Amino acid sequence: MRCNICGGTTFEAFRGRANERCAGCGAKARHRVALDIYERLLFPLAGDGAHILHLAPEECLVPVLRETFRDGYVTADADPDRYPWADARRLVLPDQFDAFPPAHFDAILHNHVLEHIPGHYRDHLAGLVDWLKPGGLMIFSVPGPYLDRMTREGGEHFRTDAERIELFRQADHFKRFGRDFVKHVETMAGGRRLDDGVTDARRAELAVRPGKAPFFVWRRNEE
Ligand SMILES: [Zn+2]
Repeated sequence: MRCNICGGTTFEAFRGRANERCAGCGAKARHRVALDIYERLLFPLAGDGAHILHLAPEECLVPVLRETFRDGYVTADADPDRYPWADARRLVLPDQFDAFPPAHFDAILHNHVLEHIPGHYRDHLAGLVDWLKPGGLMIFSVPGPYLDRMTREGGEHFRTDAERIELFRQADHFKRFGRDFVKHVETMAGGRRLDDGVTDARRAELAVRPGKAPFFVWRRNEE
């Protein structure tokens, strides 16, 4: 087992999940899987002046993305102070879906971001897709989409953090995802879901348990 981000070979349990976090760079399982996908599907876009948007930019992924895409790499979050390593611009969604012009980005990356946005995930995905150029990629993950349940939203209307923690596991989670989310991504108009190419054998090399840290790769149709 080897971390593909820092080369480390020591992994530690995190929140009860064995080998979840790399002792070297702090990468969680989803970050190691993300880089594996980026290397195959995203990095080939570099060198062409590609514009990449990375929401909630994780510390372990920012350096390699910045080095790869240089000035074309844009990071953003509703609370940029939480990302001092990224020089992120302030972007509050869903209020600021006018922050970039349509068809502006070659790729948009977001891991465990959608559960923090108030409103309906369909609207948020549509807003993000609108920022993609024809042929552009969105590579993203959300917690728990394959659990046997339907999505529940509306946490922004709960009165207390305790209610959000009970239903959505964190005070700043406004929803939890279920199988309707997967179905929606697979049937979204204007593009199609691609295979992320991450086998369980590859997961094992990255110290990720079989089937864990599932990703969505979605490509907007060429027009
Ligand atoms: Zn590492």
